[in-house]
This record gives sequence, structure tokens and C-alpha cells, in this order.
Amino acid sequence: MYSKDPELGLIIHKHLMDKQVESPAFFNKLNSNNFALIEQKVAELLEVIGMDLSDASVADTPKRTAKFFINDLFYGLDYNNFPKMTTNPNNYAYHRGVFSEAISFNSTCEHHMVAISGHAYLAYIPKDKIIGLSKLNRVVDFFAKRPQVQERVTRQIFYALQKILSTEDIAIGIKAKHHCIAIRGVRHDDTKNMTVEFGGQFASNQQLQTVIYNMMNP
Ligand SMILES: [Zn+2]
Repeated sequence: MYSKDPELGLIIHKHLMDKQVESPAFFNKLNSNNFALIEQKVAELLEVIGMDLSDASVADTPKRTAKFFINDLFYGLDYNNFPKMTTNPNNYAYHRGVFSEAISFNSTCEHHMVAISGHAYLAYIPKDKIIGLSKLNRVVDFFAKRPQVQERVTRQIFYALQKILSTEDIAIGIKAKHHCIAIRGVRHDDTKNMTVEFGGQFASNQQLQTVIYNMMNP
């Protein structure tokens, strides 16, 4: 696991509420205290669709699913899991862009509860703070680990990074495959969806935006 910062999580949650981009959820309910209840509800669902839970193959599926929800799929519904963000003073006065390409993530479409998989592309222009680069990946991962909509998760990560890095100068692009498009409805396997958000210098400088678009379309 990774180092967590629940206090920072609360600050970010409030910031996203202010910006009206928070997820439609009651947070901090999905944890090991609710393990038995989740297990029971999954068992009920499996029984309703006709699975025989007395068979050894599926007997532990409700337990495995509850564990999967809490530990792997939806831990971003609990702000106690917000990752610790180590920042350092920008002592070397680096004020050009820092660009992160192809941060892979997996999420879940909140309309169909089917997987979304893709990449995030991030950039920021440091002011007084420099962040440990893998922390950018951690922020993407945290917001991906809840039922999501691509447009909203794009803006959640954007505003979270503005707050954490104390700068408006944030850019984000997300390019993702929605498995609900691939396996149900229209059933198109190759579609990818792109979303972007630009703040500060990125919003006003097309050349900087082009760097992001080029990263997204190698
Ligand atoms: Zn969907």
C-alpha cells in the first residue's frame, strides 16, 4: 500500500464541493466495517440471477467481490485513503512545465458499472512547490477508484492538483476506453474518448496546449 493523508483528503473534498465537481456519493462508507454487508448483498445479487452459491466454485465469490470492491476497485470513495503528497520548495527555481505522459489507470463507469481503462496526461508549471512526480500518478489513481464519468474525473484531478500545487497552471488530458461501449449497446471495440482541462497559463497559451494534444496522439 501507499502513504495516506486523510486530512488532505478532507481539504480536497471541500475544494471539489466548492467547484461543484464532487461525485454523487456519501463518502467514507466503503471500508472493512461494511465488509459483511457488501458480501451479503453480492450473494443476494448472485442468487437473484440464478447462481448456486452452494457450489464450491462460487461459494466464496461474495467474499472475494467484497474484498475486491474495498481493496482494489472503489477505495477512492473513502477520503481516508487520499494519498500523501510530498512537496518540496522549488529551490532550483524551475518554472517551465513538468509533463507526465501516459499515466495508466483503471476506473468504473458509474452508468453501467463496467470498466474504463485509459491514460492520463498531466502538466504543471511549478511556482513555489515541486511535487514528487509519482504523486501525480497517485492522484489520478485515487479519483479513478470510484464509480466515475470521464468528464468529471478530468475536472476532479485538475482541481485537486491546483489545490495541492498552489497554482492555476495545470493541464490534464484523459484518453480512455469505456468497456460499456465495447461490450454492450453499440458494441464498438476501438472507440477511445478524450477529455481535457487547462488552467492558468495552459488556458491562454495554445502552444502549451499543443504539447498536451501531441502527447495524447503520438
Ligand atoms: Zn458506461
